[in-house]
Amino acid sequence: HRDTVRFCTPDVRRRMMHRWDMERLVLDRIREGRIHLFYQPIVRVASGMLAGVEALSRLLGEDGGLVLPDEFVPILEEGKVIHLLGRKVLALAVLQGELWKVRGLFVSVNISPQEFLHPEFVDVVREVLDASGFPPELLMLEVTESSLVGDVDRTVQVLSALRDEGIRVAVDDFGTGYSSFASLKRMPVDVIKLDRRFLHGVEESERDRAILEGMTHMAHGLGLEVVVEGVEREAQLEILRESGCDYVQGFLLGHPMRDVAISHLVG
Ligand code: C2E
Ligand code: MG
Ligand code: MG
Ligand code: MG
Repeated sequence: HRDTVRFCTPDVRRRMMHRWDMERLVLDRIREGRIHLFYQPIVRVASGMLAGVEALSRLLGEDGGLVLPDEFVPILEEGKVIHLLGRKVLALAVLQGELWKVRGLFVSVNISPQEFLHPEFVDVVREVLDASGFPPELLMLEVTESSLVGDVDRTVQVLSALRDEGIRVAVDDFGTGYSSFASLKRMPVDVIKLDRRFLHGVEESERDRAILEGMTHMAHGLGLEVVVEGVEREAQLEILRESGCDYVQGFLLGHPMRDVAISHLVG
């Protein structure tokens, strides 16, 4: 509304304009079917083999450059329309995953808290899977700790419904939020993804290595698998081989890439 805008400082106005422009751009791109998924390799430590991929959204900006999710995901969340992106991403990821399923690759999709808590979330996931030939066992959904800390009963109900479908759930960026192992023990999840900040210092510090190993050990004790994110150096990978984690992901193993590049990797 004009009156609202008139009373904003120029700076606030610029930010609001950006927000609206960006929201419009993303919604246009969703309508046009021009959301692009990049896929980042997730590698099994024991075998060194590609085990799965994480789908990461990008879209084409007005200047032809790629816009990264940190620029548009928060805006869609603020506008309460993130589920529109989520549905599209899920459908695209599953469609793509069908091409790789003979290789047994799993596909991991990020779910924002708002989407996870949406009353129709589980139905949408079921619908998308039903419309495809993609095995639910190869789908992994990445939720953040903030999705898990609200209404515990409801959260457990949603997680159980997903598990009943055969879908696996990973807790993304584990160790950065409010949650902890204490709350995790009640949650039917399958995987934790250790945030890349747990890698900082592991090459120099025994204490940092002890934390990494301890987290991995506790996760295994709860029956969870561990992905370590943000592996950039060979020396880190060396340490991770010793730490007992199950999967690694990061620029060392592969940047997020187009589907054809993944197809080349799996041969
Ligand atoms: P995330 O799920 O934790 O994804 C990992 C992010 O770390 C990706 O950034 C990836 O490019 C980056 N990354 C991977 N390996 C390395 C590394 O070795 N070093 C460093 N420095 N970074 C690495 P990206 O693609 O910009 O995505 C950022 C975040 O946006 C994601 O974090 C995820 O939370 C969110 N996101 C991405 N796609 C979607 C989506 O389709 N839906 C929703 N709701 N969120 C998404
Ligand atoms: Mg993720
Ligand atoms: Mg992450
Ligand atoms: Mg993140």
